[in-house]
Amino acid sequence: APAPPAKKPEIKAREGFEVDGQESDDLPPVFTTVPTKEKIVFLTIDDGAEKDPAFLRMMSELKIPYTVFLTDEEIKDDYGYFKKMQARGVTLNNHTLSHPYLPALSYEEQKHEICGMQDVMEKRYGKRPVLFRPPFGNYDRDTLRAAKSCGIEYAPIWSEEVFVDHWEYREWDQDLHPGDIVLTHFRGTDDWDG
Ligand SMILES: [Zn+2]
Repeated sequence: APAPPAKKPEIKAREGFEVDGQESDDLPPVFTTVPTKEKIVFLTIDDGAEKDPAFLRMMSELKIPYTVFLTDEEIKDDYGYFKKMQARGVTLNNHTLSHPYLPALSYEEQKHEICGMQDVMEKRYGKRPVLFRPPFGNYDRDTLRAAKSCGIEYAPIWSEEVFVDHWEYREWDQDLHPGDIVLTHFRGTDDWDG
């Protein structure tokens, strides 16, 4: 992977993904692509159910950078696995306490899910994330307000989702583009055949 740019690109909400008061309230932007002309994509892995030591080793040996979004329900049986991942240079981010469909919850309930996970991350990994990904990519204005209230600055979702045997693309051309955010999940052979 190329070195990160000295000057970080400005991230804005994807058109059509804004909420009321997005700009005026300076709410975390929801986006699917990082503005760049370089031929790179951003690999992200979610939830945290499968914890395969060989995966940590493989990604380090291949020098593949990636970012993860963790749900407490999925990681609490082994926080140590992700501690090892963090020690290998991976940034750990917020994906709520219990992976609910957030728009169905009140503001206070959403705040508990998001900010409660900030507390877990600080306690277990010593850092409060600045990135938060809403489960299923579903959010409303309360989601972004609640996230902002406990230090979240960005809400990246994805352009492509990767499964064992196929990719699902968001864009009409069914292709990758510079700066695309790619999603897959920590799933093992119990969940996925392959
Ligand atoms: Zn998820």
